[in-house]
Amino acid sequence: MKISKRNNIIIVAVAFMIFLLTLIDYISIRRVTAERVLMDTAVRITVYGLGRDRKKLEIAVEEAFGEIARVESLMSSYITDSDVSRINNAGGAFVAISAETANILETAKRVGELTDGAFDVTLGRVMKLWDFTGSEPTVPDESTVNEILTGSGNDKIEVTYNDATETYYAQFTDTRAMLDLGGIAKGHAIKQAARLLRARGVKSGIIDAGGDIVVIGNKKGKPFKVGIRSPDGDGILSVIKADDTSIVTSGDYERGFVQGGVLYHHILDPKTGFPAGGTRSVTVVTHDPTIADALSTALFVMGSDTGIALVDQLDGVEAIFIDDTGVTHLSKGAAGILEPKE
Ligand code: AMP
Ligand code: MG
Repeated sequence: MKISKRNNIIIVAVAFMIFLLTLIDYISIRRVTAERVLMDTAVRITVYGLGRDRKKLEIAVEEAFGEIARVESLMSSYITDSDVSRINNAGGAFVAISAETANILETAKRVGELTDGAFDVTLGRVMKLWDFTGSEPTVPDESTVNEILTGSGNDKIEVTYNDATETYYAQFTDTRAMLDLGGIAKGHAIKQAARLLRARGVKSGIIDAGGDIVVIGNKKGKPFKVGIRSPDGDGILSVIKADDTSIVTSGDYERGFVQGGVLYHHILDPKTGFPAGGTRSVTVVTHDPTIADALSTALFVMGSDTGIALVDQLDGVEAIFIDDTGVTHLSKGAAGILEPKE
């Protein structure tokens, strides 16, 4: 077959076009994004990197989901052989646990102290009584709640390290206590996922686990924009400028049920065993997502006055409260990280 000169030129031009397009893809920024349901939440991971690294980015994203699943397998009370379930089912005996779970329990206890008991990971039995995740939850009897509450408190869980066995152990000092790490485990999970992504060379990305967010770096030199949603579900109230930080929100709209026209939500005041009043949502912005998660739950319980007074004493922590009248309250530095309103 003879190829004419004209056809030759066309072939060369097409080959050059293909080469050029491949080159552009190779050196320009591409987005890799995926979503999985983990920890009972839709988790979306998005990373940005060069086109030539796309395959590597895809693998890193998969590994990051794997990290979240791994944390879930340690800390979920729904998984029977998790550290948390083994502690809950040990009847007060010593249980060998991972260093990671031990660390989270210690952190939880510290946040419990810092917040005057507003954060309490031993509310497991009270949470079970409310059964927010059940098919037909109802308001429990107040005297039953009070009775169960006497068996909870951060002092009811002890963590020790045994030098001889080089192992951490946890033990309940009250057999009625039950762990529920629902207020902190997700923060830790996204922290580990972000750590994995950074270790794989990711310089820009965002992990969003249903409102618990970690932002890695920024987006082409500009901060990522993260919206604070209205508790009533009608849009975004304000926008946070986020650069290499975490943004975690606790809201009354996340889980709960309505009975007699009243919303009973899943964030309990450890003093009463009933849903904490006065607040609709709290967003915490700080570098460590584990702290952001635990604090957002605790601050929700504390309310805006006491909560902001505490946050203003902490370095590198900002909070945005929306109270039950719809008014927004900001910690001292929060205005500086919000997009100005038009
Ligand atoms: P979050 O969405 O991070 O505010 O976490 C709420 C979850 O934390 C609930 O579903 C419970 O599992 C747990 N929880 C509820 N109240 C408290 C509390 N006062 N302290 C610690 N954990 C809590
Ligand atoms: Mg929380």
